Amino acid sequence: MNLLDLNYEQLKEVVVKKGLPAYRADQIMDMLLCYKDWSEVSNLPKNTSSLFSDYCILPLEIINEFKGGNGVVKFLYKLQDNHLIEGVYLPNNYGNTICVSTQVGCKMRCAFCASGKDGFMRNLTSGEILAQVLLVNKIMGGTSKNRAISNVVLMGSGEPLDNYDHVVSFLKNISAKRGLNLSLRNITISTCGLVKQINKLAKEGLNVTLTISLHSTDDEKRKKLMPIASANKIIDIIAAADNYYKSTGRRVSYEYALTEENSDNSSVEKLIELLNDKNAHVNLIRLNEIEGQEVRGVSERRSIEILDRLNNFGISATLRRSLGSEVEGACGQLKNHFAKK
Ligand code: SF4
Repeated sequence: MNLLDLNYEQLKEVVVKKGLPAYRADQIMDMLLCYKDWSEVSNLPKNTSSLFSDYCILPLEIINEFKGGNGVVKFLYKLQDNHLIEGVYLPNNYGNTICVSTQVGCKMRCAFCASGKDGFMRNLTSGEILAQVLLVNKIMGGTSKNRAISNVVLMGSGEPLDNYDHVVSFLKNISAKRGLNLSLRNITISTCGLVKQINKLAKEGLNVTLTISLHSTDDEKRKKLMPIASANKIIDIIAAADNYYKSTGRRVSYEYALTEENSDNSSVEKLIELLNDKNAHVNLIRLNEIEGQEVRGVSERRSIEILDRLNNFGISATLRRSLGSEVEGACGQLKNHFAKK
């Protein structure tokens, strides 16, 4: 059992059951949010750690890191059961972002992604997702009150909405006043487009930003890129995204990795037709090179032509720079066997 899986009220219950006064929950919560061990705090009675010997408090550690340009750092974390996951720290002048993983591996097997290549191992718990934020916050000099991290993207290994319950708990815990108190508006979930779960999330009252990996305007072609497309039609994904926007007021973004297959004129016109009357944004992505990848990207010139076509039509669109790509830390490049390289 992991103490970071608990919210404040649950922690208080455990603290009281252990025979400690309720106010100790505040001190323990602060210790957890600072990603500290019992030995690193001086305000708790000496026997407190033995009272909690049935709980894990630091569920992951960093065992390797790679530094790229612009301050980007990719971390390799080891979990308690020795599984490995990756995450990326991306500093920016509007705030520092951490990209977190939500599963060990992934079931979705998208053709352009490294995370799913080795299959799916297990879901991360809400505490294991939170621990990635807390540990990097600590390393970057942040505390629970004075955070060094201002944005979180659930875009590492795993499909967040395939680990729905833990991800929703994570969102509630990280944004709680007695948690890290991070605004949900500063959190982005990236999904391959699980229609049922998008509609469910729309009802949670959690106004996180949603980005959907669309990558094609044709269901048959999309299936080749993303096998999950067999069960989630583009038209239904866009309807679910529209529902999400209407329920939360948050504009949905579509990720569109530019490949030889989806960058011809008819695909671009279809994209315009699909999003014409929607309050949406399109993130065009220059495809990152990964070892063994079969999908080929397009030239920078063609990418800019597509960007201009969308913008000229009035569709909000940007071309994303591949921040983090030099340490293989950009989207679709995280995996769980970084140590083998
Ligand atoms: S892109 Fe996302 S959903 Fe697809 S395999 Fe990679 S991690 Fe899984």
